[in-house]
Amino acid sequence: MELSINNLSKTYSNGVKALQDISLEIPNGMFGLLGPNGAGKSTLMRTIATLQEADNGSITLGNLDVLKQKNEIRKVLGYLPQQFGLYPKISAEVLLNHFAVLKGITSKSERKDIINSLLHKTNLYKVRKQNLNGFSGGMKQRFGIAQALLNSPKLLIVDEPTAGLDPLERNRFYNILSEIGENTVVILSTHIVEDVKELCTNMAIINQGNVLLKGNPLKIIENLEGNVYEKTIQKEELENYKQEYNVISEKLFLGKPIISILSEQDPCHGFTPIKASLEDVYFSQIFGKNNHLTPTL
Ligand code: ADP
Repeated sequence: MELSINNLSKTYSNGVKALQDISLEIPNGMFGLLGPNGAGKSTLMRTIATLQEADNGSITLGNLDVLKQKNEIRKVLGYLPQQFGLYPKISAEVLLNHFAVLKGITSKSERKDIINSLLHKTNLYKVRKQNLNGFSGGMKQRFGIAQALLNSPKLLIVDEPTAGLDPLERNRFYNILSEIGENTVVILSTHIVEDVKELCTNMAIINQGNVLLKGNPLKIIENLEGNVYEKTIQKEELENYKQEYNVISEKLFLGKPIISILSEQDPCHGFTPIKASLEDVYFSQIFGKNNHLTPTL
């Protein structure tokens, strides 16, 4: 199954162009949609999840027209939205059962089996009788993924799932996602480069409603190899360096800025070559002066 997004555009009534002619081919497996806040990720996710309309363009999942055959899509869709604010005074087990009924799983014994298996998968079995309003952020996210998996979706959309999770919970969440079969299209939207690096076989970087770069993360990184350099500088030199070089990131080490730059030739002047990373790719796309070093693959 493949999700195919063609020339999708959306302008909100306030004039914000949230999606500008987006086209993406998303095969089975984990796809990372990476972009800063306001890039248009949630707008795209909600449109794919049949929750909002686009102005132009089309989306297909296999033979299904996502924008027109909404009910058919909802049967094969799992969605974990960015805001999942339903934490009532009932237990995880009871609420999952309720969702399972809503998703059309009518057999009681089948529901029980599915729910038990998902509670184990998301490591919530021991706390299944506890009220959801006492769950930690990580537990709530794991509950969210359990409800999204109830109908064994062919298309799973997870919008910014690790925001606010501590490293341990993030890892738990990664592990659950990475177990989801290769026969599912999983779209993970995030502004956290690590999420994509750990999990995704394909990715796209979007900003201001445009796709800046798409492809396989390893190949994209390979493309930058040999073009990233770094140097420790004085704070007051930073602006000059920004003028002179294609500075893609700056960080502090023991109070001194270390800058990374993109350069096709050895810039000399004390710069040392470093191994390219996905962060470099991301920063070069979002903050770099030119991005011809990382063409769309
Ligand atoms: P992301 O998920 O990448 O943070 P969003 O899709 O939420 O991005 O937002 C993209 C842009 O659209 C932002 O500039 C945001 O302010 C704007 N936007 C999102 N939803 C609405 C809305 N309902 N009405 C008007 N503008 C919106």
